[in-house]
Amino acid sequence: MVSGRHLHAGQPIVDDADTIAAALGEVCIPALMCSMVHLTGDPAWIRGDIRPQGIFLNEYQGFMPDEMRAEARTRALGAIIEFRDSGGVLPPPPSRELLHEMMTYLAVAEVPGEFVQMFLEDLELVDSPATAADWAASIPDGRLATTPVIVIGCGEAGLLAGIRLGEAGIPYTIIEKNAGPGGTWWENRYPGARVDIGSHFYCYSFEPADHWTEYFSRSAELREYFVAVMHKYAVAEHCRFDTEVTAATWDSTAEQWTVTIRTADGSVDTINARVVISAVGSLNRPKLPDIPGRETFAGPSFHSSRWDPTVDHRGKRVAQIGAGASGFQLAPTIADDVSHLAVFQRTAQWIIPNANYHRAVPDGDRWAMRHLPYYGRWFRFLTFWPGAGLSMTNWRIDPEFDDSDGLAVNATNKFSREMFLGLMAAQVSDPELLAKVTPDYPSSGKRTLQDNGSWLACLQKPNVELVRTPIERIVPKGVVTADGTLHEADIICYATGFRHNDFLWPMTVTGRNGVTLRELWGDEPSAYLGMTVPGFPNLFCLYGPGTNLAHGGNLIFQSECQMAYVMDALRLLIGGNHTTIEPTPEAHEAYRAAYRAEIDQMVWSHWSIRHSHFKNPDGKIHTISPWPIPTYWQWTRAVDPGHYGFG
Ligand code: NAP
Repeated sequence: MVSGRHLHAGQPIVDDADTIAAALGEVCIPALMCSMVHLTGDPAWIRGDIRPQGIFLNEYQGFMPDEMRAEARTRALGAIIEFRDSGGVLPPPPSRELLHEMMTYLAVAEVPGEFVQMFLEDLELVDSPATAADWAASIPDGRLATTPVIVIGCGEAGLLAGIRLGEAGIPYTIIEKNAGPGGTWWENRYPGARVDIGSHFYCYSFEPADHWTEYFSRSAELREYFVAVMHKYAVAEHCRFDTEVTAATWDSTAEQWTVTIRTADGSVDTINARVVISAVGSLNRPKLPDIPGRETFAGPSFHSSRWDPTVDHRGKRVAQIGAGASGFQLAPTIADDVSHLAVFQRTAQWIIPNANYHRAVPDGDRWAMRHLPYYGRWFRFLTFWPGAGLSMTNWRIDPEFDDSDGLAVNATNKFSREMFLGLMAAQVSDPELLAKVTPDYPSSGKRTLQDNGSWLACLQKPNVELVRTPIERIVPKGVVTADGTLHEADIICYATGFRHNDFLWPMTVTGRNGVTLRELWGDEPSAYLGMTVPGFPNLFCLYGPGTNLAHGGNLIFQSECQMAYVMDALRLLIGGNHTTIEPTPEAHEAYRAAYRAEIDQMVWSHWSIRHSHFKNPDGKIHTISPWPIPTYWQWTRAVDPGHYGFG
C-alpha cells in the first residue's frame, strides 16, 4: 500500500452522527461500499445483497433502488461511528485479490486480470513502480546537470513534465506562451467552458482533488487547480511565462538543442538544452473558417478560445459559427442573456446523456472524499472504468456489417445510434428540429458531446435559431447563408475549433541534416509511440501524433503514461552516460504501419464523416489513438532500448 500518505486514507472522523448521516445522504453508494471494506477490513460489504445493478458513464449510483441505498447508508453509519469511537485506526489493507473483487463489484462485470495493475497504480492502491527519483539518486549530480531540459508549454502535460523532472533532480526550464499554467484551461474562458471528463478522474492521479465544486469543473476552477499544483511542486520558479518558443534546432556538433524564444516585449533569445520535451498541446491554435468577407463584419468578432470579456453580449444578437464541443457549451450558457442567438452548425453532433454534467458536488460527497478511506479513489474508478477504452470493438468498422447507408459501422454502433436518437427524440417535439439535429453519420464518429438536456433545450428557446444552411459569406451586418438569407448579428463568435492536425505548429523544429518536422511530416505526422521521431534526437512529444483520445481515458492519464516513458528514456540516456537517444527508423516505421492499419479500421476514419477535425486534408487520421488504453499504458511503462540508438 502507499505508505506515509493520507491523501486517500481520509481525514480523521470527528463529526457527530447527524452530520455523518447527512453526508451519507449525498454520497455515491457503490464507492461507499468499497470504502467500508477499507474501513472495516470486512469483504462482506461487497459480497452481500447491496450491489450496483448496472453501470453507465457518469451515473454514480449503479442504478441501485432507493431502499437498497438507504440500507447501505444505515449500515455504513453504524460502521463509521464504531470506527470513529474506537480510535479511527484502519485495519490491514485489502489484498490484491480483494481489490480486484472490489473493481468487479463496481464494474458489474469481471475486470480481466490483465487490466488490474493499471487501475491499482492509477488509484494508488499499490506502490507505484520505481520512480525517476529512485534511479536519479544513484547518478552523480554532475551528470544530471549535463542534461538540462527545456519543456515547451505549461499545460497539464508540461506541468507534469516539470514535476517529474524536478523529482529526479534534472535541471529544466518550462517556456510558456501564456501568462500562467493550464494551457487550454488558461485560454478557454468563454461562458460555459468546462471539462467533459469527470473532474475526479480528470486530474493528476497523484494529486487528486477532493475540493472540486462541480463534477465537471469549469475552466476557472481547473486553472486554480493547475496553479495550485504548480506551486505545490515548486515548478513555478522553473517557468518563463509570456515567452514563446518559435524554433528549436538540433546542433549536431554540440549535441544539444538550440531553442529560440520570443518574450512578451518581442525580444528574441536562444537557450540551449540537451533535451526538449514538447508539451504544446494540440487544441490552442484557433482555426478560423475560410468564409469570404469575414474581415468585413462591422461588430466585434472573436474565436471562442479568445472570448472577449470586454464585449457585453447581453441583449445583443449573437451569431455563433460552429457547434462542436466549445459551441455546445457556449450556446446554452449565453442563450438567456442575448436578444437573439443564431447557431450555425455544419454537422449535427452525437450527444451522450449525462445528468451530472452541470451538477455541484454536494457537501456530503465532499465530506466523504475527505474522510472515508479510499472513497475518492473508488469514485475515480467508477468514472475511469466505463470510459477506460479497454477494447476497440465498439469503434471498429465491422467488414461484415452493411454500412452502405453510412449510419453505423457495426451492430453495437447501430444499437447506440438508436439509443441516442431515442433520447434526442424524447427531448424535441418539433419534427423539423429533430431532423436538423439528427446526425447522418455513425455515432462516436466525431467527438461525442456530453449533455444534460441543456443543448436541445437551448435550441428550443424562442430567441434561438439553429441554422443548418451552409454559410455563403459574411457581410458587415451579419452572416449570409446559401439560401440568400441575411442573419443580422451584433457579435460573431467563431467556435470553429483548432489546428488539431498541425502538430507543433507554428514552431520550426529542425533535426539532423537541417530537416524540419514540417517537411518530414507534411500532412502525415507520425512519431514512434506518438512521442519520438528518427532524425530528431532527444526530442519527446507529449500529446503528439496519434495520441489524442476519443474512446476512453483522459489526456492527463495519457500524459502520465507518456511522462513515465520519457523519464525512463532519460534514465537510459543519463544513466548510460550517453548524449543522445533517438528511435531507430525501423522501430518508427513498424509503429507507423501498425498505427495506419489500425486507425483506418476505426469509426472516426469512416467515409461517411465528411467534416471532422480528427481528419487531415486527405481524410486520413493522424491524431487519435486506436489503441486500447491499457495497451498504450503497457507500452509506455518502460523504454525498449532495442528500439533506440544512443550516441
Ligand atoms: P470542434 O469540435 O472542431 O468544432 C468546430 C465546429 O466548428 C464544428 O461544429 C465545425 O463543423 C464548425 N466549423 C469548423 N469550420 C467550419 C467552417 N468552415 N464552416 C462552418 N462550420 C465550421 O472545435 P471545438 O468545439 O473548439 O472543440 C475542439 C476540441 O476541443 C474538442 O474535440 C475537445 O477535444 C476539446 N474541447 C473540450 C471541451 C471539454 O472538455 N468540455 C470543451 C471544448 C473543447 P463540422 O462539425 O462540420 O466540422
